Amino acid sequence: MPDTHLTQTPYEPTLDERALARALSGSHLIGGKLVPARSGKTFAVVNPATGEEVARAAEGDEADVDAAVRNAAEAQKLWAKMPARKRGALVAQCSALIKTHVEEIARLIALETGKALRTESRVEANTVADVLEFFGGLGGEIKGESVPFAPNVLSVTVREPLGVVGAIIPWNVPLLLMTLKIAPALVAGNTVVVKSAEEAPLTVLRICELMNRVLPPGCFNMLSGFGPECGGPLVAHPEVKKVTFTGSVPVGRIVAKAAAEKLIPVTLELGGKSPMIIFADCDFEKTVAGALTSMRFTRQGQSCTAASRIYVERPIYDRFVAAMAERVDAMVMGDPLDEKTDIGTIISDDQMSRVKGFIAEGLATAGAIGRACSAMPKDPALAKGKFIQPHIFTNLPASSRLVTEEIFGPVTCIFPFDDAEAVLAAANDSEYGLAASVWTNNLKIGLEFAHRLEAGLVQINQNLVVQANLSYGGVKSSGLGKEASLESMLEHFTHKKTIMMNYA
Ligand code: ADP
Repeated sequence: MPDTHLTQTPYEPTLDERALARALSGSHLIGGKLVPARSGKTFAVVNPATGEEVARAAEGDEADVDAAVRNAAEAQKLWAKMPARKRGALVAQCSALIKTHVEEIARLIALETGKALRTESRVEANTVADVLEFFGGLGGEIKGESVPFAPNVLSVTVREPLGVVGAIIPWNVPLLLMTLKIAPALVAGNTVVVKSAEEAPLTVLRICELMNRVLPPGCFNMLSGFGPECGGPLVAHPEVKKVTFTGSVPVGRIVAKAAAEKLIPVTLELGGKSPMIIFADCDFEKTVAGALTSMRFTRQGQSCTAASRIYVERPIYDRFVAAMAERVDAMVMGDPLDEKTDIGTIISDDQMSRVKGFIAEGLATAGAIGRACSAMPKDPALAKGKFIQPHIFTNLPASSRLVTEEIFGPVTCIFPFDDAEAVLAAANDSEYGLAASVWTNNLKIGLEFAHRLEAGLVQINQNLVVQANLSYGGVKSSGLGKEASLESMLEHFTHKKTIMMNYA
């Protein structure tokens, strides 16, 4: 069984993202060591801004999954015995280490995902440290209750870890979404095997490798590979006692079925089609700026919480559409590693053709207007880059696929409305229920909508991405269970045991 370091990766932060990508090539991280796939297979990691291959990733299969899970199961025996606050302190120490590597991590994630360094990648790298720090402080909160039962009977509950957690993550915000899973899982006394998304394996591996310089070997393992071949066996492995998954609805269903076969708990963070509802009394400039953020244009709209349906009260509708188009026009599309760039690339050719398909369908819809905003980059070095101009659609019928389906690209649809009840019904008329936002200075209306919108997260006059300490997760087809908070750590990464002692 191969168990040696393939390449030497630097401990100190490096700003040469290409050299780092090469050094991380061809490895999983199992039992604290960088190891190749048992099969020896690898697959290409491509810089979406240029089309160049920047690294190879280890192509994991059942044999790698088995090795990683066995290591995690062995490590969990000791990890669970460590006092919870000590585990938390180690996770907080990982945060301190990541903080010294933020710039390196930001450059590497920009290289492999095409997300702009200034507007997205650096922000994400910082949130990794923030989430580790937050959960690192929660070790002492893994506590139970005393339960009144009968005189002379002491009845208490204690929180116990579940065992090995399998964490399957997507490519759009891989570092943040991974950390929201692994940090609470580890602090609660579980060990983890992460399966990265095939489009974004490198930076996840780097974070795992750095954290392994702090954590005991085997506590945090990482595999790269394809969904059915690597993710499938991870969910099915008998030693995996909990699965947490972020990805698409169809794969979420497959994962939930496989978990049901084993009768293990599963948390699912799936898609969204998040409405943004704007009343005429809003603070106009703040709301236009908020719409750009809400639509996650700087992430090319590749977000489950993107405001891809925007409903604007009629008196300000025309002005709002014009202002939004003007603001998106002013955003700079270009090299993700350039500080001037606001908008980088789409992740892959598959996503390019999917998003372009939606845009073509919108443009071909009778009566619909599609505005292409911002300008394609002119640099010849980016000629093969996966760039798509942001599109703002108006006059689409409510039945259009652009309005009902998750596009996961820089495409939003804007509608006028006259009646509050009708717009609420339109907003709720979706199979999804992840996030929503309401923009108004009438807080009575804002709160009423917040209560009646069918979504796991509703924000009034802001639309931030997921934050540590706030429970996050959807209703309807957007998922099962919540993540990111103390309560979700207790609920989803521990089980409650009741202990009774009769001392009569
Ligand atoms: P996206 O459309 O955003 O790529 P997916 O749901 O296809 O979302 O993928 C999210 C994650 O799920 C990725 O890590 C992917 O490899 C993994 N995955 C895909 N198919 C399966 C499967 N059958 N079993 C387990 N994991 C899978």
